[in-house]
Amino acid sequence: MYNVAQVTDEKCVAKKGCRLCIMYCPEANCLDLNSEKMVAEVVINRCKGCELCKVVCDAAKHDAIQMVAVSANGALMDKAGEAAGLGQAYQG
Ligand code: SF4
Ligand code: SF4
Repeated sequence: MYNVAQVTDEKCVAKKGCRLCIMYCPEANCLDLNSEKMVAEVVINRCKGCELCKVVCDAAKHDAIQMVAVSANGALMDKAGEAAGLGQAYQG
């Protein structure tokens, strides 16, 4: 099990021009703008869990990024340790 970054859409201010996390993520094609929803979005299987995006988002007082555990089969876990709905979709 490891952690990946996840953006809380309601808190993300990308629609106001923020791109901090996108600029700081060291992984190519990992964190980018979802131009339909106008929020930052993490590609789960590219994220290395370095938390840099969370650090810069928190430092700017947006608090829009959480680190979320991922199980060995790639499913996102919620706080209770259960596979979340989004994660199950990734199991194909
Ligand atoms: S730094 Fe935070 S508020 Fe800014 S785009 Fe990234 S997730 Fe959204
Ligand atoms: S945790 Fe690191 S690798 Fe993952 S999205 Fe954030 S900055 Fe990129």
